[in-house]
Amino acid sequence: MGIKIALAGNPNCGKTTLFNDLTGSAQYVGNWPGVTVEKKEGKIKGRENVTITDLPGIYSMSPYSSEEKVSRNHIIREKPKAIINIVDVTNIERNLYLTTQLMDLGHPVVIAVNMIDLVRKRGDTIDLEKLGKALGCVCVEISALKGEGCLEAAAKAVALAKHHTHGERPHVFGGSVEHALAHIEESIEGKVDGNYLRWYAIKLFERDERVREEVGLDQELLKHLEKHITDCEREMDDDAESIIADQRYKYIESVMQ
Ligand code: GDP
Ligand code: MG
Repeated sequence: MGIKIALAGNPNCGKTTLFNDLTGSAQYVGNWPGVTVEKKEGKIKGRENVTITDLPGIYSMSPYSSEEKVSRNHIIREKPKAIINIVDVTNIERNLYLTTQLMDLGHPVVIAVNMIDLVRKRGDTIDLEKLGKALGCVCVEISALKGEGCLEAAAKAVALAKHHTHGERPHVFGGSVEHALAHIEESIEGKVDGNYLRWYAIKLFERDERVREEVGLDQELLKHLEKHITDCEREMDDDAESIIADQRYKYIESVMQ
């Protein structure tokens, strides 16, 4: 069996440029089912057993736009063994928002810090080791445009895929959120794909309508979850969805320092 790796990132972060560099001419272009979003898959140069999929560009993993749905469904159904999350270093804070969400899914992630040529041009450097430690995953700097670091990023992803290495889950949320999430996880265990228990718990905490529908919880259980959510909201004096978004941004801010 070959290894499947997915390429995820915001629009315009350089996904297609990286994909082309990694696959050369060995690519297959089709369409994602049900949407008019191009689907590209290919074999990594010199690694015939590794298939890489260029996911649609997205800013978040909430299943609202068709691009987000396609990306999330691909990850959850095809279960790529590793994800290369490409981030545009010139816009790193916004890009890392998606990163925190990808990590909630629990797949091994390699962060390809792209457009490093622009950073160098400014005479700056990025401390990759520090960044990787703060984010709890492997970071590689690349210039997809110049073909620098691309194969190294792919090699790191293949290594994670082979060894099923998960980074340490970063501490994104505070105590009261984690407390609510733990209760929600406990309540939905066995009702959702266990691999994504945490992701479902976060979405249900946010009262995500689509996910509520998808999971199909009965009224009794919803009421029970609602109690944990409102307890946390009261404590934090904010609504659940904003609490999650706010804590993601605060976490990114702390990483950037
Ligand atoms: P996608 O939307 O994520 O698929 O992004 P693209 O691969 O289409 O790239 C978006 C733009 O960024 C294009 O104009 C690329 O040439 C440019 N780009 C991609 N990678 C790099 C890079 O490493 N350095 C620089 N300077 N530009 C890049
Ligand atoms: Mg593209």
